[in-house]
Amino acid sequence: MQNVSLGEVMTPIRNVHFRGWRVSLKLEYVLPTGSYKDRGIAVCMTHLKALGVKKISEDSSGNAGASTAAYAAAAGIQAGIYVPEGTSPAKLGQIAVYGAELNEVAGTRSVSAKRAQDVPEGCRYIGHSWNPFFACGIKTIAYEIAEQTNWSPPDWIATPLGGGSLVLGLIDGFEELLSAGYIQKSPRILAVQSEACAPIYRAWIRDSYDVKPVTPQSTYAEGVALPSPARGSQILESIRRNNGIVAAVNDEDLLSSWKNMAHLGYLIEPTSAVAVAGAWQARQRNQIGQGEDVLIVLTGNGLKTKPALLEGMISSKL
Ligand SMILES: *Cc1c(COP(=O)(O)O)cnc(C)c1O
Repeated sequence: MQNVSLGEVMTPIRNVHFRGWRVSLKLEYVLPTGSYKDRGIAVCMTHLKALGVKKISEDSSGNAGASTAAYAAAAGIQAGIYVPEGTSPAKLGQIAVYGAELNEVAGTRSVSAKRAQDVPEGCRYIGHSWNPFFACGIKTIAYEIAEQTNWSPPDWIATPLGGGSLVLGLIDGFEELLSAGYIQKSPRILAVQSEACAPIYRAWIRDSYDVKPVTPQSTYAEGVALPSPARGSQILESIRRNNGIVAAVNDEDLLSSWKNMAHLGYLIEPTSAVAVAGAWQARQRNQIGQGEDVLIVLTGNGLKTKPALLEGMISSKL
């Protein structure tokens, strides 16, 4: 069986001083379509191609759709992608140019998901938020971090939290390495949502496992704006087992982190900046202790940012 691949690489880890605080960055946005989603989609598409599938559908806030479109093109599979209206034009153009059928759907991400699942016979729905092949691919980020840190991973890993594939992949991947004896302890996960759409954080602060859908407000963190995540209680169980934390940040804080990261030379998606802002907030609140080391997962490429935000930079005095 031939793997469907676009040349995924082991993504670099860089050490920087963010506002004078030493942190490590995992540059997931160097993957072929500009986000970590390629880890999971490469595995899904390899499986689908082996099954002889000819047509697939997927819903996405943009990056999973772009990744699906690209790997489907590489596999010779036809893809239909359903995204909520208002998705960044850079992501829409990316999906379209790979040759996928692009469907912009009015309403929230949940509406796009329903449309993507309502497909004709013979067309497979990927559903990356719960697809086990996608989850297996995402776990490779934990294996990489362990190897790159000489089997002594950091105390904390800060990551955005939307549908939770990345959080679950990290936690499951490190648990496997721990039980196989490769590492002595799992990093604690700091999972960060956007305050504008934070159903898992709301359940976390109520000390509940029951994730209730929220009405999303507008946010630049479009990649984590899932009002009703499919695996909410599983995510909370995993984070509690990991001794992790769920946090939420507002758009003002995420935008200032986004700009400060660019000033270090790292142009990331605003969605990725929730992890940076969340890590900073956790350090300020001493949830992350002095001297504890932190790795921040930079999930998406800044060139996917909404044009209005980038254009606003041209005239604004930073
Ligand atoms: C998908 C995505 C996320 C959120 O990941 P989940 O697995 O849905 O929690 C974060 N950042 C970017 C850039 C994404 O594309």
